[in-house]
Amino acid sequence: MPDKEDSNHGDLILRVAVPLPLRRLFDYLPPAGEQVTGFRPGCRIKAPFGSRTLIGYLLAKGNHSEISRGQLRPALGMIDSRPLFSPALLELLQWSADYYHHPVGEALAAAVPALLRRGAPLYDEVTVWSAAAGSLPGRARRQRQLLEFIIQKGSITRSELDEAGFSLELLRQLARNGLVRKESRIAQAAPGFRPWRPGSAARPPLNAEQAAAVEKFRAAGTGFRCALVNGVTGSGKTEVYMRLMEEELAAGRQCLVLVPEIGLTPQTIDRFRQRFSLPLAVIHSGLSDRERLQAWRQAAEGSAAILIGTRSGVFTPMARPGLIIVDEEHDASFKQQEGFRYSARDLAVMRARKENIGVVLGSATPSLESFYNAESGRFLRLDLPYRAGDSVPARLQPLDIANQHLPGGLSELALMKIGQHLEAGNQTLVFINRRGFAPILNCLLCGWTAQCGNCSAYLTVHAQPPRQRCHHCGSSLAIPERCPVCRQADLGTSGLGTQQIETHLQKEFPATPVLRIDRDSTRGKDKFRKLLAAVIRGEPAILIGTQMLAKGHHFPGITLALIVDADSGLFSPDFRGQEQMAQLITQVAGRAGRGSGRPGEVLVQTRRAEHETLQHIIGSTYSEFARHLLAERQAAGMPPYSYLCLVRAESRDRIAALAFLRRARQGIEAVRGAQQIHLTGPLPAPMEKRQSRYRMHLLLRGQSRPKLHAVLDSLLPQLDELPAPGGLRWQVDVDPVDLL
Ligand code: ADP
Ligand code: ZN
Ligand code: ZN
Repeated sequence: MPDKEDSNHGDLILRVAVPLPLRRLFDYLPPAGEQVTGFRPGCRIKAPFGSRTLIGYLLAKGNHSEISRGQLRPALGMIDSRPLFSPALLELLQWSADYYHHPVGEALAAAVPALLRRGAPLYDEVTVWSAAAGSLPGRARRQRQLLEFIIQKGSITRSELDEAGFSLELLRQLARNGLVRKESRIAQAAPGFRPWRPGSAARPPLNAEQAAAVEKFRAAGTGFRCALVNGVTGSGKTEVYMRLMEEELAAGRQCLVLVPEIGLTPQTIDRFRQRFSLPLAVIHSGLSDRERLQAWRQAAEGSAAILIGTRSGVFTPMARPGLIIVDEEHDASFKQQEGFRYSARDLAVMRARKENIGVVLGSATPSLESFYNAESGRFLRLDLPYRAGDSVPARLQPLDIANQHLPGGLSELALMKIGQHLEAGNQTLVFINRRGFAPILNCLLCGWTAQCGNCSAYLTVHAQPPRQRCHHCGSSLAIPERCPVCRQADLGTSGLGTQQIETHLQKEFPATPVLRIDRDSTRGKDKFRKLLAAVIRGEPAILIGTQMLAKGHHFPGITLALIVDADSGLFSPDFRGQEQMAQLITQVAGRAGRGSGRPGEVLVQTRRAEHETLQHIIGSTYSEFARHLLAERQAAGMPPYSYLCLVRAESRDRIAALAFLRRARQGIEAVRGAQQIHLTGPLPAPMEKRQSRYRMHLLLRGQSRPKLHAVLDSLLPQLDELPAPGGLRWQVDVDPVDLL
């Protein structure tokens, strides 16, 4: 829509977000000699900032500034002739900067590929010159000829200029005299994709629950609607997603699919590829900057039909948005844990609202937040309580190992079961959520334990290669021969890691391949894919894995899942500890017995077989357990029955970090409405020191989200003004997921 001020270059003020940690916009005059009619919010702009030039984002136009015109600087040039973001996406970004209390320029910069951040063109653009009002000096004959040529053609490109035999210098003279204006135009019109038609790809007939789920979503009509597919592992959630996508793709609309980690779910991507044979753009961390930009472009111009991405994929532009899917919506990786700390799952719902389209969250173990929204009717609830096809859910059994000394970590019964399943020609999954050989190195004489010098954490012992490593700061040390305190050579390890289990199982089952799958064994290109390929071939094997193996994989050969240590989750300091433990156990259990005619078995080794939580998890469905946890959360006034915001401060100086948050607390207490906010802290974070910095927390909890945000709105400008000595850094984390 052309604005009134567009015609009036003289008055126009551009309000620009710059990629700096500043919670405000900056005003600029329009760049000299550029056509301003095309300036629209969402276009990038080159702007002088101090002695630097920044790439900023035009957010608004106006004709009034707080700063006098004489002091405003002109922008240096507009980069885009078409906004990078659609109005809905730009609204989402501004909303999210607001909601997460993050500087909007940084939020925008975080949303775009690196090359766009650095000013690369999104589309192939050509520069054209057109005539502007003004008069020529009488003697400039050649200039007049060129100007007449331009007027006659409407506008000219560089190559038209050359062909007509005029020099670039002549054109520049016209520009300097204000007689021509420079403008960018997109070289090609955006192509769409060919709408989907049912083809040769096989589609299994939906079972009754799947059909009901699809029907329920359809019946909700068009426009914004949000559903939670609460489907047990192997219930055919992906099939439901694909049926819902079909309708959009058949109408030429795009579908955005968010998954926790692309590298971990190659099977899912292959399924979309095989089903739809439509242009598909996968946006993941392994892409080069060029490839990432390419994928963005295909999404923005609408030539890619299906867009698959991880967390940051929620900002992928869509020319013709149709549907958003968030698979494994409970996964913690959807929350950005540093800088712009957004939740991609929550933003996916907000984005669908702004785009006025549908959004589907899916999980076998929904987050309590989503579960609550589905129970309370805010989300449509699509239940898939049974496994699809002819596989049956695995049976969970506790394996009591109290008072047993297990050098290799596995009980006799566990080893016997593994042997039985292998003999029957099946695979076994051994789950332990700790990589390395052992989590602790200690002195058997004096009790010394090896700690990281930079973090409040033990050093993990690795066997391949032999080192001690800190999993929090990455530091790596040789394994000492002697205890540094008592100088005796009596060092031992305690606890178990994947490498130790691997060694042990390889000894027990020398004829069986033992595949260890963790961050260490999958480092390097394609290693994970190769390991997965070996698993999918289905020959008898033992898989040892961390939570990488618990994510949505479909391995029909696995009939036994063994959880080596279920107890660590029972004593988590985090109020989400039980929820996370139930999710992990359910997801691991969900890998067993997915093949047809191969029922699965799940063994949960524990020294706390009597523990109520564990009995509850083993004895009920995830949904039943989730309801139980919700009742507890309600009684304790914790999310989703309240809202949290964590102010984090960290510094090399412990006292400085504490003092900062103390002042923050005083600031909050002085704000109107603060009585309704429950404050905890400042307190040291559960992991107090990390990478040589002390970390302190101040937790805000409120029953009313608007009130909590109002308090933050008045607090943050105060905190911005507080001195931050000694490299102190602080951040707000809205709806924190990780309280460590
Ligand atoms: P989930 O994502 O819920 O864990 P999947 O979508 O991976 O489950 O489905 C599990 C398995 O069941 C897959 O092999 C899938 O092809 C199969 N499946 C899904 N729906 C059906 C159906 N209606 N009939 C037969 N097999 C199905
Ligand atoms: Zn010692
Ligand atoms: Zn460390």
